[in-house]
Amino acid sequence: MNSPNNIPFLDLVTPHIELEQELTEVFQEVLRTAGFIGGPLVEDFEKSFAKFCGAEHCVGAANGTDALRFALIAAGVKAGDAAVTVPNTFIATGEAISQAGAVPEFVDIDEKTYNMDPAALHRYLSERCENTGGKLISLRSGRPVTAIVPVHLYGQMADMDAILAIAEQYNLIVIEDACQAHGAKYFSRKANTWKTAGSVGRVAAFSFYPGKNLGACGEAGAITTNDARIAQTIRMLRDHGQAKKYFHDIEGYNGRLDALQAGLLTVKLKRLANWNAQRRELASNYNRLLASEVANIITPFEFSWSEAVYHLYVVRVENRTEFQEDLAQAGIGTGIHYPVPLHQQKAYAHLGYETGDFPVTENAAPHIVSLPMFPQMTAEQQQRVVNSVKASVSRSAVAATATL
Ligand SMILES: *Cc1c(COP(=O)(O)O)cnc(C)c1O
Repeated sequence: MNSPNNIPFLDLVTPHIELEQELTEVFQEVLRTAGFIGGPLVEDFEKSFAKFCGAEHCVGAANGTDALRFALIAAGVKAGDAAVTVPNTFIATGEAISQAGAVPEFVDIDEKTYNMDPAALHRYLSERCENTGGKLISLRSGRPVTAIVPVHLYGQMADMDAILAIAEQYNLIVIEDACQAHGAKYFSRKANTWKTAGSVGRVAAFSFYPGKNLGACGEAGAITTNDARIAQTIRMLRDHGQAKKYFHDIEGYNGRLDALQAGLLTVKLKRLANWNAQRRELASNYNRLLASEVANIITPFEFSWSEAVYHLYVVRVENRTEFQEDLAQAGIGTGIHYPVPLHQQKAYAHLGYETGDFPVTENAAPHIVSLPMFPQMTAEQQQRVVNSVKASVSRSAVAATATL
């Protein structure tokens, strides 16, 4: 896979070569000032990222999983609670819920967008939970349900108006897992305006893992919120529960954002809007170029109220194993996000879910495959991916599309 003609699933080298001088200057500044933890680099990045998200506050964290755990705790999720999320996500969503002392409970996804299906959420809360003594108790775990964690998967926001309305009806906290959705937008019909991921729920968590749309040169994460009290609690949680050095109001964690990473992220944040626009352009080209193969491949779906930032470009094919082999033969990298839904992972066997519990997720899981997607992909590279995709799906075309 090292031939220059190969097309990687993700190219993390080119953008850093382009920014090498600016990034190196940040490193030199950090060395010269020994400003390794906290300080102006972290504060500047937090301000810029809050602004980018249209949120009032941003608090940096060590990674996205920490950010999500802090968000849950600060927003009021308590040990013994249950939080509702989706099985089609990265395990960090479930881990953060468990680490906050709660238990994840799942509802199925929408078959077109792969995001939380508000109808399934409503069914779950109305049919599988009951109101006891003013609390909404989950019939499966006996725990009080206190939060909903929609995941803006693949860079597309979940249907937040519908989810927020349900949350209001049941008095639940909404925490956005925005780890794949830096800059994604949603047209709120209720507010009659576009909103950015990270500004819609009570609080939101972002990851800056290197491969994310905004990636650090190492580990990093952040939370955004319009609630000053939640932001303040998270500032304490990430720093051993202290509001003042060595005065610990609560027990916290060591979950701070490195000053070096913050400085590097500030450099890269200036390019994010452009990079996201390039991803959208690539996605629309893929959609157009693959349109004639519509019977054999299902391309991503965007509602008119959504402006996705294509962290991943995920299609469905009939025979995925063969498909990935065909593309690998042509020197093209692909990925699967994710091969095993959370409720079918060994780590969650103790939750007692069964195969068949989430048919939309389970039907999608064996067929989804992520095509190369990175802002620097050239038109020529994309055309080659498209040619290989077409050749592969037309070969295996005969199978019924109904199972896709
Ligand atoms: C990347 C990711 C996370 C976790 O982020 P880390 O920085 O790797 O801890 C959480 N949720 C989703 C959906 C993610 O994609």
